Amino acid sequence: MEIKKRVLVTGGAGFLGSYLCERLLKDGCDVLCVDNLYTGSKSNIAGFLYKDYFELIRHDITFPLYVEVDEIYNLACPASPVHYQNDPVQTTKTSVHGAINMLGLAKRLKAKILQASTSEVYGDPKVHPQAESYWGNVNCIGPRSCYDEGKRCAETLFFDYHRQHKLKIKVARIFNTYGPRMHPNDGRVISNFIVQALQNCDITIYGEGLQTRSFCYVEDLIEGLVSLMKSPDEFTGPVNLGNPEEFTIREIAEKIIEMTGSKSQIIYKPLPEDDPFQRKPDIDLATEKLNWKPKIKIEDGLKRTIDYFDNILKM
Ligand code: NAD
Ligand code: UDP
Repeated sequence: MEIKKRVLVTGGAGFLGSYLCERLLKDGCDVLCVDNLYTGSKSNIAGFLYKDYFELIRHDITFPLYVEVDEIYNLACPASPVHYQNDPVQTTKTSVHGAINMLGLAKRLKAKILQASTSEVYGDPKVHPQAESYWGNVNCIGPRSCYDEGKRCAETLFFDYHRQHKLKIKVARIFNTYGPRMHPNDGRVISNFIVQALQNCDITIYGEGLQTRSFCYVEDLIEGLVSLMKSPDEFTGPVNLGNPEEFTIREIAEKIIEMTGSKSQIIYKPLPEDDPFQRKPDIDLATEKLNWKPKIKIEDGLKRTIDYFDNILKM
């Protein structure tokens, strides 16, 4: 009988995690999803919850976990500013204690482990676009710090386990990613704007909307994560994964209003503290080492996401 690779995905019932689990199942892996369902849900994984070779464990990774697997993708952590600021101490614990627990597990099992890090490690960047060599500009005491510093500390732990214990690590710095299965109340910009536009409600731009982001469609991102895990052991990252096409938040609002044919008006609300002014990944390293580039244009990705929200809002 064929022996399947056993892969642990923490945060597997979340937005990105659910796509990753689905992809790994398609690739013939035996997938163990560990999630405390804080921002994730069973509905995200409903399509394969009862499939052979898929298993969900409800567990908080800030507590030790004893399982037997061959590879670990560590995605557990709320990603939306609204959610990660709701219980900031738990957010730091998830990144730091969670990383220690998962790295300890990987060490015992001699398993390869990938960390879902973030463009937030660059903070409010003074270098544009952001390459991996940039050390960032992060406030360590602000409302975003629980996430930013938690993720920075997790990267430190990954590299110390690599140097000290020879662990096989991979660190992906993920830039803003969007797509179907984002939660309608997730609070991130694309889901907020689409839900507001479809309901003809006011579109809430924070600040003047001149801040920029670069949005990657979820399927492109998953391809990048899987390629990184498969890359030669010498390549640890950190490597940026994101779409370098940059837009102002106002441009995104206008695009979504146009694509939905919405009657929504744009309104302006105060800019949250420490909101980064610009963000765009330099993806040369990912292209060179992983032969990876995002393929899906913003219009195509937005269309699929709008169709998704249109369906669930009718339910
Ligand atoms: P998400 O909030 O949809 O998913 C996170 C998942 O982790 C959820 O299912 C949640 O229930 C689970 N979780 C949270 N704390 C946990 C804990 N202590 N123990 C077990 N499970 C826990 O977010 P997402 O967009 O899918 O993000 C996934 C990962 O990718 C996160 O680590 C995030 O920091 C990273 N990331 C995402 C983006 C993005 O734009 N989506 C950008 C940068 C980095
Ligand atoms: N934003 C906005 N309106 C919203 C939600 C977000 O103008 O309803 C802005 C937010 O201030 C930020 C950008 O959109 O400048 C991206 O926010 P998001 O929460 O999606 O992710 P971030 O990149 O800030 O973590």
